[in-house]
Amino acid sequence: MRALTAAIAALFLSAAAAAQQAPRYEIPEAAAETARTLAERGASSGLAWEIVESLTTEVGPRLAGSPAEARARDWAVQMFTELGFSNIRVEPFEIDYWTRGELSAEISAPFPQPLVATALGGSAATPQGGVEAGVAYFPNFEALARSPEDDSLRGRIVFIDDRTLVPTQTGAGYGPANFKRTLGWLEAQRRGAIGVVIRSVSSGAHRFPHTGIMSFPEGAGRPRIPAIAVSNADADQIARIVGAGHELRLRIRSTAGWRGRAESGNVIAEIPGRERPEEIVLIGAHLDSWDEGTGALDDGAGVAIVAAAARLIGQLPRAPRRTIRVVLFGAEEVGLLGARAYTDLHAGNMDNHIVATESDFGAGRIWRFDTRFGDRSLPAGDAIHEILAPWGVLRGGNQAGGGPDILFMRTQHNVPVVTLQQDGTDYFDYHHTPDDTLDKIDPEALRQNVAVYAAFTYLAAELDVDFRN
Ligand SMILES: [Zn+2]
Repeated sequence: MRALTAAIAALFLSAAAAAQQAPRYEIPEAAAETARTLAERGASSGLAWEIVESLTTEVGPRLAGSPAEARARDWAVQMFTELGFSNIRVEPFEIDYWTRGELSAEISAPFPQPLVATALGGSAATPQGGVEAGVAYFPNFEALARSPEDDSLRGRIVFIDDRTLVPTQTGAGYGPANFKRTLGWLEAQRRGAIGVVIRSVSSGAHRFPHTGIMSFPEGAGRPRIPAIAVSNADADQIARIVGAGHELRLRIRSTAGWRGRAESGNVIAEIPGRERPEEIVLIGAHLDSWDEGTGALDDGAGVAIVAAAARLIGQLPRAPRRTIRVVLFGAEEVGLLGARAYTDLHAGNMDNHIVATESDFGAGRIWRFDTRFGDRSLPAGDAIHEILAPWGVLRGGNQAGGGPDILFMRTQHNVPVVTLQQDGTDYFDYHHTPDDTLDKIDPEALRQNVAVYAAFTYLAAELDVDFRN
């Protein structure tokens, strides 16, 4: 017994010794104090709310490539100007422009009734007058993808059910539930189907359909068939009728389609660094939104959080060492096209991107600080976390993704990234639906986001840490 106790004690002692040996990073007290002050100011600032209220009210929905997205860029330039940012500019790029047009979908037999539906991004139009056909039911995407490529679906409308979007804090349920949206069209079209209908990739209980862009794998071209999502309630209805053994028929009319080339753009604004202005701490969000709601959670909230956090830093009597660059990306929803354009344009300057992060997961409270830093700067990450911890933030791991618009910087140029992980438990109740509107934002949670962003961003720009190391 005593030997065992001694062994356990030795174990603890050696762990403690090892912990003591690990190099600790001490944030200079003046910087820590400034970061704490910024967080306090963020937590009591109404600025982020004013920004997202203005964007969602005065611009509203802002589909990539549309005149509304162009108005959003003008709005952003004016917003940054009024808030005293420097180096404000738009970096334009061209995209393929798609619009949803008009849609109607209904059960034509055996129990005629309308469905609540929306076109998926990239959907083709139906022939004038629509299509009407018997439904081939698949419980999930995998069942369709594994089905034989014979003629059994020729002339039919494929329906993909699958109610497995599991609501989680991290949004982990979204990816697996998404294949039916991204690739369902291709599997259906390849088998001769004349349309594809999916259950919305949404956890919402209300009768709103969920849109989103489809995937267009290399060589597959664009869809030639209509691809639509019905709300969860309507998917339940379809499943009930099929489940009862009826031969279900649907009618779809859609004028969705690609409309040639259009302009999009990234809007950039900066707080120049006082010592190393060439070094960049990038905080981003995306300015475009789907056209169904007003893009409040996705991603008006992110726009407001990063702009308000940077503004607080800009009001300090002394700017931090490095430049803070706010990037509002265009055309995120339709395939990360703004992220692609930014990374291509700035490819020669990526070594000067010290760290990057994006707010694009709604407006829930930040509860975890994830990093992707070099091993030697992890103690600095831990020290930054200690400043964030009082705001209800846990220390996460070192495998952060950084956000969708940060993806290419990270994967192609090894830019260190951070994810300030928000609570997304109810995010997919609203995301990409007509229900993504300002009233879904909790002002207090929004302020907590600004508090955490302001403190993190300031420290990343002020501390003499190379996060690549
Ligand atoms: Zn988004």
